[in-house]
Amino acid sequence: MNNTTKLAKIDALLSGLPTFQCKEGCFDCCGPVKLSRLEYMRCIKASGHTAEDVKQQMQDNLKQGIYTCPLLDTETKQCSVYEVRPAICRLFGVVKGELVCPHGYACQCRFKIDTLFLQTPI
Ligand code: SF4
Ligand code: SF4
Repeated sequence: MNNTTKLAKIDALLSGLPTFQCKEGCFDCCGPVKLSRLEYMRCIKASGHTAEDVKQQMQDNLKQGIYTCPLLDTETKQCSVYEVRPAICRLFGVVKGELVCPHGYACQCRFKIDTLFLQTPI
């Protein structure tokens, strides 16, 4: 299976996830996130920057004690790669008991992590 097919499969799995309205202007959960290499490469491409630029931005942020994701647009305060954001970002506020929003925002119908990809609401 090539990388394009793998990403298409991931997108298909995630496409059915519910969404919810966040606190206006909030980006508090946009810290460093774990993501697969494939997702990382796609995000870098979508960002319009090089991997080196993004890494440098992250290192500069950390030196200043800033833990915000380097893919957050510093002007709009929105994700610069929203359409291809990693799975972990799409799952925030959607999984019951995990990835809990510190402000209490969440979708109405949260899923258990083990049933998530079977689309079984609990
Ligand atoms: S999920 Fe919560 S912490 Fe993350 S952006 Fe939305 S309101 Fe903010
Ligand atoms: S990739 Fe986007 S949604 Fe995910 S943490 Fe970074 S800025 Fe936030």
